[in-house]
Amino acid sequence: MDTPFYPPRRTLMGPGPSDVSPRVLEALSRDTIGHLDPQFIQLMDEVKRLLQYAFDTKNEMTFAVSAPGSAGMECCFVNLVEPGDKVVVAQNGAFGGRMKENVERAGGEAIMVMDDWGHAVDTDKVAEALKANPDAKILAFVHAETSTGALSDAETLCTLAKENDCLTIVDAVTSLGGSPLHVDDWGIDAIYSGTQKCLSCVPGISPVSFSNRALDVIRQRETKVQSWFLDINLLLGYWGGETKRAYHHTAPVNAMYALHESLTILKNEGIEKAWNRHHRNHGALKAGFEAMGMNFIVDESSRLPQLNAVTIPEGVDEAQVRSQLLDGYSLEIGAGLGSLAGKIWRVGLMGHSSTPKNVFLCLGAMDAVMTDMGAPINSGVAVKAARAFYDAV
Ligand SMILES: *Cc1c(COP(=O)(O)O)cnc(C)c1O
Repeated sequence: MDTPFYPPRRTLMGPGPSDVSPRVLEALSRDTIGHLDPQFIQLMDEVKRLLQYAFDTKNEMTFAVSAPGSAGMECCFVNLVEPGDKVVVAQNGAFGGRMKENVERAGGEAIMVMDDWGHAVDTDKVAEALKANPDAKILAFVHAETSTGALSDAETLCTLAKENDCLTIVDAVTSLGGSPLHVDDWGIDAIYSGTQKCLSCVPGISPVSFSNRALDVIRQRETKVQSWFLDINLLLGYWGGETKRAYHHTAPVNAMYALHESLTILKNEGIEKAWNRHHRNHGALKAGFEAMGMNFIVDESSRLPQLNAVTIPEGVDEAQVRSQLLDGYSLEIGAGLGSLAGKIWRVGLMGHSSTPKNVFLCLGAMDAVMTDMGAPINSGVAVKAARAFYDAV
């Protein structure tokens, strides 16, 4: 007999998805209505307005791609890159590598500016690359590298791009809702994010926004966008402003209720307050990890509060720790990716997961599991250190 699937109740402190609020799950279970129902169209307009708030932009072409963050990435690249276009890609982790793939698959040429994993994008090296390639059309970079926990200086990078007459494509999958982000003030032309990181919505939707400058470039393309589904020219008729909505695809209706709810939660909290909350809980987690004797791989000046990459104590089997956390505490933390596999853990404090309760759970559970293994850590001090941090701020 087939049986229903009941997932275990976890605490999600990995690189995403993050814990989804019961409010968002309840919204997801409301009645499905038609995707061209006038009330659903009104909901789409509200989602757009809430996304404009979250991105801090007036861009009319701000909407949610009906697929995960990776599709938002493709949407930006396939619309802006034409065969033969030169794109400067700054890579400082796993996701910058995917940008290169996207450029090349769209027929473009990727000029790579490489930085070591765990470092922010070096703005001087990007300035040099832009100078050496005056014909470059686009600068692409990841704002918050989830593979390493490094935050790059998006404002400076966008200024450099402008000075070189380049458009910008920015990956804000992990930064949106967790770190300061100002699309209009910084002059970002195309940006994509995800729902399952700091927005704490269900996975599978990708908020994007395009500046008018980017839209002009897209309208003047010589070749057709190679993806029918992600072609902005066609999506304009579905998500666009004044014109009557035309059928393009069927939006994930219930997931859109969930996104609306999560954005409403963010707006009610206030985005600056959300950034501060991420910062504060990171401070407590850091106090605990450091008391245990563990180290962060990213320099304090460019460290993400929502993604904490820490080294593994000498001689510890990192996979065993993760599986004991999952089995014994129903707690998920992340492993290292790519060149950092086996070398770090990635502990997420994203969105609804970023709470003092989760900080204490994670520190207490990791302390207990590693103490039990005889790991070389300072036992029994992490939770206390986090408590002292909260009491002092
Ligand atoms: C998670 C993530 C993505 C991909 O998002 P999916 O929803 O998994 O497709 C892209 N970029 C960054 C920086 C991410 O953290």
